Amino acid sequence: MSKTFIDIHSHKKNDNLNVVQILNDDTFLFNDFSFYKNSFYCSGFHPYLLKNNIQPSIVKKHINNLTKNQLLAIGEIGLDRSLKNDFEIQSKIFNDFLELAKHKSLPVFIHCVRAYSDMLHLIKNINFQDPLILHDFRGNIQEINQLTRSPFDFYFSISPSFLKKNDNRKIFEQIPADKLFFESDDTQSPIEIIYQDFSNRFQMNLDSLRYQHVQNFNRLFPHICL
Ligand SMILES: [Zn+2]
Repeated sequence: MSKTFIDIHSHKKNDNLNVVQILNDDTFLFNDFSFYKNSFYCSGFHPYLLKNNIQPSIVKKHINNLTKNQLLAIGEIGLDRSLKNDFEIQSKIFNDFLELAKHKSLPVFIHCVRAYSDMLHLIKNINFQDPLILHDFRGNIQEINQLTRSPFDFYFSISPSFLKKNDNRKIFEQIPADKLFFESDDTQSPIEIIYQDFSNRFQMNLDSLRYQHVQNFNRLFPHICL
């Protein structure tokens, strides 16, 4: 039985060698991703960055200069109606980075707040075929059904914030086991504790959860194979 904990999306390095993480490239300064042996990376343009005056073109150039070694995905990219940024501009940038991921045949990490139908519309337009990981997923049962029945390969990654949600048991049960991940995101909780919390809350065997998530990871990234 695998002892691995998958932390599918994180902003913070975890030194436990049983933890495999995909770290978000927050500084755009990385150009050698080989220094953390058990970590992989994703890089993209979060809609939040618009207010920091960071140019999407600079981030795109940065991504194009990265070698494929350890850059596992594009992201986080997304749409967020809770931000004050112009939604049209967000959509255009999201679309641009989706095109980039399609061109590179890489999965994407998506940050989506109150914009599931807009997101789906853009994905349909591009006909994006690689996996789409909805990070810090906070949607409802209808949204899960809409996304799992779509022709696209959606995954649902949930963080400790999910446990605060009303109805979280019903929503959790609706997410197919082979489409589920846990993440530490920008929280202080180590992923080992997050697995334990979910296992306690939903009376699920910790080892089976870990085993399932390693299978999910290997399906997403067959070239890594844990
Ligand atoms: Zn994040």
